[in-house]
Amino acid sequence: MMEQYHALKAQAGECLLFYRMGDFFELFFDDAKMAAGVLDIALTTRGESGGEAVPMCGVPVHSADGYLARLIRAGHRVAIAEQVETPDQAKARAKAEGKPSSKVLVAREIIRFVTAGTLTEDALLEPRRANRLAAVCEVRGTLGIAACDISTGRMELEECTPDALAAALSRLGAREIVTPEDWEAAPPEATLRPAGDFASERGRQRLQDLHGVSTLDAFGEFSRAMLAAAGGLLAYLEHAGRGAMPFLLPPRINASDACMAIDEASRTSLEITATQGGARTGSLLGTVDRCVTSAGARQLAEDLSAPLARRPQIEARLALVRLFHDDPILRGDTREALRAIPDIARALARLVADRGSPRDLGQVRDGLAQARVLHEALAALPDRPALLDDLLPRLTGHGALVHELARALVPSPPTERSSGGFIASGYDDALDSLRETSGNARKAIAALEARYRDETGVSALKIKHNGVLGYFIEVPSKHADRLMAPDSGFTHRQTMASAVRFNSVHLHEEATRIAEAGGHALAAEEAHFEALVALVVEAREAIARTADALARIDVAAGLAERAAEGDWCAPAIQDASCLEIVGGRHPVVEAALARAGERFVPNDCALCDTDRLWLIGGPNMGGKSTFLRANALIVLLAQAGSYVPASSARIGLVDRLFSRVGASDNLARGRSTFMVEMVETAAILAQATERSFVILDEVGRGTSTYDGLALAWAVAEAIHEQNRCRCLFATHYHELARLAETCDALSLHHVRAREWQGDLVLLHEVAEGPADRSYGLAVAKLAGVPPGVVDRASAVLAKLERGREETGGLAAGLGDLPLFSAAMQAQEEECDTLREKLAALDVDALSPREALDMLYELKREGGES
Ligand code: ADP
Repeated sequence: MMEQYHALKAQAGECLLFYRMGDFFELFFDDAKMAAGVLDIALTTRGESGGEAVPMCGVPVHSADGYLARLIRAGHRVAIAEQVETPDQAKARAKAEGKPSSKVLVAREIIRFVTAGTLTEDALLEPRRANRLAAVCEVRGTLGIAACDISTGRMELEECTPDALAAALSRLGAREIVTPEDWEAAPPEATLRPAGDFASERGRQRLQDLHGVSTLDAFGEFSRAMLAAAGGLLAYLEHAGRGAMPFLLPPRINASDACMAIDEASRTSLEITATQGGARTGSLLGTVDRCVTSAGARQLAEDLSAPLARRPQIEARLALVRLFHDDPILRGDTREALRAIPDIARALARLVADRGSPRDLGQVRDGLAQARVLHEALAALPDRPALLDDLLPRLTGHGALVHELARALVPSPPTERSSGGFIASGYDDALDSLRETSGNARKAIAALEARYRDETGVSALKIKHNGVLGYFIEVPSKHADRLMAPDSGFTHRQTMASAVRFNSVHLHEEATRIAEAGGHALAAEEAHFEALVALVVEAREAIARTADALARIDVAAGLAERAAEGDWCAPAIQDASCLEIVGGRHPVVEAALARAGERFVPNDCALCDTDRLWLIGGPNMGGKSTFLRANALIVLLAQAGSYVPASSARIGLVDRLFSRVGASDNLARGRSTFMVEMVETAAILAQATERSFVILDEVGRGTSTYDGLALAWAVAEAIHEQNRCRCLFATHYHELARLAETCDALSLHHVRAREWQGDLVLLHEVAEGPADRSYGLAVAKLAGVPPGVVDRASAVLAKLERGREETGGLAAGLGDLPLFSAAMQAQEEECDTLREKLAALDVDALSPREALDMLYELKREGGES
């Protein structure tokens, strides 16, 4: 057996091997040790004759899904080795091969690889989250990304530059990434696959074969990088399914400038779809989501992960939200109708992948029928927004299919198809008569029981059924003699402790009728199942479009619900680079405060071309971070097509959104926190454009006061002079206020605080002007630092402040510093004199001596600059 095991394990590679033995999947050796740890199950050993004891553990087949889910979540991949013949078949094979049947082993094969990106089982998937697999590869410096969610069949292709890869992958939120094995820049967690899988021509061919077309023109224009990535993706899916391809729709192209770019660090810091602890609750998504279907919730997560960057699309979404917002009755009715709609996208994917059940068919039937009901209600509306007009036709057109499914299936079909019972009566006469036959036989058996009781006079006689004997007659032991008599008409089958079991000719006949009719009925149901699945598969693209349209309507109605609940407003999207938010609130903090019975203080923000950088000072805990994030989230929500938590908002389109938080709040990820902070800040300086929006929270905090102030100063100047983007910059360095003297588009603001009867009161109100003082000691007191320590700190502070007055303070002399751009220019110019000299040099005309002199001269000048 171990030989077979090792052969399969070699095929499984790095995957854990689930080796089917009877009712268990067994794991051996290191796999067993690993799995026993992750799953917290007993590690045992298996004695091998003559060999060492082999570590092993096992999970029952019937509950394998739960164990698989845990292994996948812990980052493992699993190969499933099933028995592909019965013991009888194995024996017959042995006989044919002339081997002793005692030695033969049931053949096993890996039937599937289960990986994070290739799940379709409901039990293994999170209902409200997409499950993406992405393939990435490089073709001549351009990266191709192919992503799909096989639980819904969506497939997307895009390309990007190497520096934009991290942002693209974090937008897609892929659960698993595959790359060519010879690609040096592969992300460390990637699954490596043969480089040959990522050839663009083969990718094109695979896509054409998959969709049965001879050209991809109808789907869009795909670049070589996209096709190469698509090839890698499809090859991997084929590998994981051992040749069986999952459900995939024709690929869509994601244009790189269609979405607002948000890099990984900003996503994490803004807690868009998950908090920094990884939870959905407490994230923006968790606070905004009022969708009533899982598909809607998945769509909303995608919308928030990839806010739009083009005005018409944003306005189209907003118009649909407005429709539901302004009409609470329509909203309520629509949500009620949606609530009854099952997850047809995932049911469809299972059916297409041949892993579907009668229940999935029932879900498709109910979902499509309900879509039609919704269509009727929405199509009757006057003045429909354009997006709704686009969506409406996708909700219908399934009449014949729904009719067929409704006729064929019982109202709630089971998930198990092998025991039948899902085809409705009246659908198939032959099936009905088979069922009648077995029904009659059952009645006949009930009649037999009464007759035998009469005939034998044993009132305790019963006819029972079990899996081993089938139907049998049972009497208590003390009455058994009467039935044992040779002419009784009963034949003895089994003697138990307190009962004896018999058969009879009549019973046998009826039992046979039941078994035969039952077998035929099962076969008939199976055939109907396959035919119905084929009908659904035929209509898969249209059904997927319906599912998408339903999700989009759910998102809009859900956002409208959220807006009404929180008194949110419709943002006005502008082309000018403004950001005018009146009464803005942070939705997550507001919800948390509301739970504690406290009120959120709304604040205004007004950035424009001539006032695009706000420096915000004020005490710790004063509400700076909250203000920054509230504005970033409002921009994000608006461009995702949502109403926003404010009383009014005018938002100039943002192409890139950045959020950075000073190091000490961040977790170290291998590098020092300050290093992380600087790497992330550098990315903003390199990438932010005039259309970007940046929030910087205490940047420079992760190092010494002098370094930190110097860096914060230089970063603020660079953002003002070079990037020229809209920016909110929170800082506790008062000294930065002096930047206002030289930077015209920079203004000073602070969060207000008061000392009242010796205690600090934080007003959480953003006001104009510099912060007057830092209130650090008052905050310390508020936080419970012992009075003695606070008093001592006051004394030290007084001394420090005296020193500051005498020397002019930390930032003394900074006012004379040339501005960032001027300093940069001066450096440039000096370099240029060197360059000019070099350009003028005729190297061929120089003697070796002259060349050496010239080199010394250039060196001297360069050193001076
Ligand atoms: P800072 O960045 O200035 O240290 P935070 O933004 O972290 O301050 O705010 C600290 C706390 O103050 C928050 O956790 C929140 O409870 C409260 N807070 C912040 N802003 C507001 C506001 N606008 N209204 C009410 N409470 C607020």
